[in-house]
Amino acid sequence: MSEDTYRHRAKKSLGQNFLMDGNVCRRIVEAIAPGPGDTIIEIGPGQGALTGLLADSGAARLMTIELDNALADRLAALHPRIEMIRADALDFPWESLDAGGPCKIVGNLPYNVASKLIWDIVSRTRTMQRGVFMVQHEVALRLTAEPGGKAYGGLTAWVRNFADTRYLFKVPPTVFRPRPKVDSAVVSFTPMPTESRPADPEALARLIKMLFQMRRKQLSTILKPLWNQEIDAWFKERTLSPAARPETLTPGQFRELSILVRQK
Ligand code: SAM
Repeated sequence: MSEDTYRHRAKKSLGQNFLMDGNVCRRIVEAIAPGPGDTIIEIGPGQGALTGLLADSGAARLMTIELDNALADRLAALHPRIEMIRADALDFPWESLDAGGPCKIVGNLPYNVASKLIWDIVSRTRTMQRGVFMVQHEVALRLTAEPGGKAYGGLTAWVRNFADTRYLFKVPPTVFRPRPKVDSAVVSFTPMPTESRPADPEALARLIKMLFQMRRKQLSTILKPLWNQEIDAWFKERTLSPAARPETLTPGQFRELSILVRQK
């Protein structure tokens, strides 16, 4: 890292915890596996811990989205080949990537917006081939949780209707500057083929939000105002108890149920 690394005053509001460990950076870049024809998008490049490796990887195109203009200017000057987008990644039109063909998305994400970003990215991109994101350890557990567990929630049910997730490795606070208070972890995302994606994502999002707002309640109680014969039959055919709680449903079952609820 250059001396500049130490002069930049990290902004807590932008989740600026910079990676200082070359080995962790290499492992993240290896996980995204840049190939010669690849378009890579990095979210929050910051001081360039991953960007330098990505720029040297031989990928055909490297786009970076950074909200902090001072960091963006410095990095753009260091790596003239990158396409620097000075913007809030939360406002990025992820659908627009589809016009450019297959892409891979990577980032050591700012913790405060990581869940929202991942929610949007997996559901709004159709040409992402792979995603690799560092998030708070607790969020990594949610993204990779199985039904029935404590970590399984709305984010899990949503994301796993669009992508398979894999917990790759844990990262301790000591490798960042400044040090965060919590552990981090790297998760990879392999998007499902287009034909396996939910036909009505809005209905799915509505159902997931409704059910997880009341996750301590039984499904029959939450769904009571919408209950009909079809929903009843759906539970019976799957030998699912209406007295079960939302976290026992698989991602696929959320999707099936969202279609029945939608028809009301
Ligand atoms: N990639 C660098 C690293 O690993 O050292 C920086 C990671 S740091 C955890 C998060 C980065 O995301 C910071 O550079 C921060 O300025 C940027 N950032 C924060 N919020 C953002 C947003 N909404 N859109 C785009 N970038 C954002």
